[in-house]
Amino acid sequence: MTKDLIIESAKNLKKALPLMMNYSVPTTPSNYALWYHYVAENNTELKESMDKLLSSCEICSPIQAESLYREHVLPLAERETWELRNSIDKIMLQLDKSIIDTHTDTNQFQQSFEKTFANISKVEEEGWTVEEVVGLLKSLEKDAKMMRNATSFFGNSLALAKGEIDSLKAQLEESRNAAMYDSLTGLLNRHAFDTELSAYLKADTKGLCLILCDIDHFKSFNDTWGHLLGDQVLKAVGRKINENMRDGKTGYRFGGEEFVMLLPKTNIRIARQFAETTRKQFEKLSLKDKRTGQLINNITASFGVVEIQPNETITELIARADEYMYKAKQLGRNRVLPI
Ligand code: GH3
Ligand code: MG
Ligand code: MG
Repeated sequence: MTKDLIIESAKNLKKALPLMMNYSVPTTPSNYALWYHYVAENNTELKESMDKLLSSCEICSPIQAESLYREHVLPLAERETWELRNSIDKIMLQLDKSIIDTHTDTNQFQQSFEKTFANISKVEEEGWTVEEVVGLLKSLEKDAKMMRNATSFFGNSLALAKGEIDSLKAQLEESRNAAMYDSLTGLLNRHAFDTELSAYLKADTKGLCLILCDIDHFKSFNDTWGHLLGDQVLKAVGRKINENMRDGKTGYRFGGEEFVMLLPKTNIRIARQFAETTRKQFEKLSLKDKRTGQLINNITASFGVVEIQPNETITELIARADEYMYKAKQLGRNRVLPI
């Protein structure tokens, strides 16, 4: 069994490494796992996705590699989230216990305090001796000490929890930055877009097209229908973009109500057609306002399409797309530019 595994893994190694070299893929653990499973041909979905990608893009960029890894090899993100959630649960449990303990102590203190208070009125009525009064004061002092201990214990627990929460916050921020996906739409995020585009530029890719699109009058949509329904629109638009992501195309939430698509090995004419098809698909989207039952089907967006030019930087490429998109807005929105 072990021997079979050694033979099998050596065979996969001999196939995977030259391929990774050929496509200039860094031999990181996750990349190796991805290519290992690819050459092992034990995962048909992975094989199909990778074959398609390689034939359409001729590179397996870091973001695409990461996507394939996450989708087919290991749900790493889920594990991280699970660990974070576990730590938060633990802190909440500790805090909960401290609160209950302090509450019990305070109750006890109150009862004891009330008893002592009742006795104070008796001091005069019943003519207590000095010894009895001193005893009363001592019991009061004991209660106060107990209360001080309880509150300082609670204060310490709070300080400890705050420290842990701060460190969890930092961890969460880190994993958010490392994450590639936008939490609302599930599309790849801006960080992923930047990484992907710079990889394409480094590889000096020819015929890379970029489509920038911005939902029309979205501010007034939010004002009319509410932010929650606005979020539903963003989700629906994100789903539509995601459906169209085939043959190496990738779609991202650029920010707010703006989306961007990268189309490798394409020319401006085809990219424009693709943008036009997407524009029409957005027009057909329809959503129901659950509160009023009213149907919303007037979602439109304006598009700017560009093809990369030699030696163009990321900023220049995006600025050109942005200019076209802005012109599309000026000309009345719901259109693709250049014509
Ligand atoms: P234009 O047609 O010129 O693009 O007009 P616009 O109203 O879409 O553009 P503007 O930039 O003035 O407003 C963008 C709006 O998008 C404002 C903001 O509240 C909304 N928005 C951005 N992000 C989100 C989000 O995550 N959810 C919701 N519901 N709205 C968002
Ligand atoms: Mg905008
Ligand atoms: Mg807008």
